[in-house]
Amino acid sequence: MRNLLLILLIFPIFCYGEWLSDEKAIMGTSVKITLWHHDKSHGEAAIKAVFDEMERINQLMSPYINSSELYSVNKNAAIQPVKISNELYLLIKQAQLISAQTKGAFDITFASVGFLYNYRERISPSNQVRDTNQALIDYRQVELNDKNQTVHFKQQGMKIDLGGIAKGYAVDNAITILKSQGVNSALVSAGGDTKALGKHGDRPWLLAIQDPRKKGKHAIQLPMENEAISTSGDYERYFIQDGVRHHHIIDPKTGHSAAKVQSVSIIGQRGVMTDALSTSVFVLGVKDGLALINSMPNFEALIIDKDRKLHFSNGLLAH
Ligand code: AMP
Ligand code: MG
Repeated sequence: MRNLLLILLIFPIFCYGEWLSDEKAIMGTSVKITLWHHDKSHGEAAIKAVFDEMERINQLMSPYINSSELYSVNKNAAIQPVKISNELYLLIKQAQLISAQTKGAFDITFASVGFLYNYRERISPSNQVRDTNQALIDYRQVELNDKNQTVHFKQQGMKIDLGGIAKGYAVDNAITILKSQGVNSALVSAGGDTKALGKHGDRPWLLAIQDPRKKGKHAIQLPMENEAISTSGDYERYFIQDGVRHHHIIDPKTGHSAAKVQSVSIIGQRGVMTDALSTSVFVLGVKDGLALINSMPNFEALIIDKDRKLHFSNGLLAH
């Protein structure tokens, strides 16, 4: 009888709580949060804190918002070195390291061509303009000064855009915030960048990877626990003209949309890395992309090539 009383007293402490979920359009994409919290109002406050953080990052790093720090970098950094916040400096520095690691497949100066596109309006640059601006894509022409914390473009007309890394950075920050608010179980995604905290109840989170050519259909599902996954695809922002698929991932070497694969997913600990690497491997294609990921401990890749064939990195094959 005493035992039963004890169970009745303890039971609510463990079982009380609920799943909360919300979705909002931020950073040009859909941000989704699902979490478990023992206290509904604290859980809702945690969700709001994450949305606020995403919006803060957007206001800092959007190339379109003319009060953003990144906007003023693009406006002034070719004229003279521009002093920037520690946060933006560190992210640009991280992007530069990934450019070196991927031999320039990842290059934030892709924006020198990227800004000429408008996918919604089906606008792409003429070959002549593309070629002129492609010559401005070169991460080595972005000069960072650690001491003064400045960024300087060594060529006029150059632009940068952190769209290939900022969402992964944002989901990392989101999970840090949720942990600090007592959340142990959550899934946060910003477009194709997702990070899982803990489990979904007593099971891992299940992450569905979109079939790149069948909207709403899944190509594969992956279990996830305390890790990040980023998917880059040619089916999100694109239009087809004269048989050519113009989409938002630019091959820095050509200035054209990268065409070797349809979808790349990268799994790893930090969203900032999985995000940048998914974009990079999309540009590199199956052979060079898998070679890169197989050379990096603690990262895995799943690639859907242009014939819809699946390719896995060594660590996924081993499972
Ligand atoms: P994701 O969906 O993570 O692959 O990111 C795609 C975004 O990355 C695009 O919308 C651009 O903002 C940016 N991007 C496109 N091409 C590149 C590139 N070669 N290197 C770095 N960022 C890129
Ligand atoms: Mg990415």
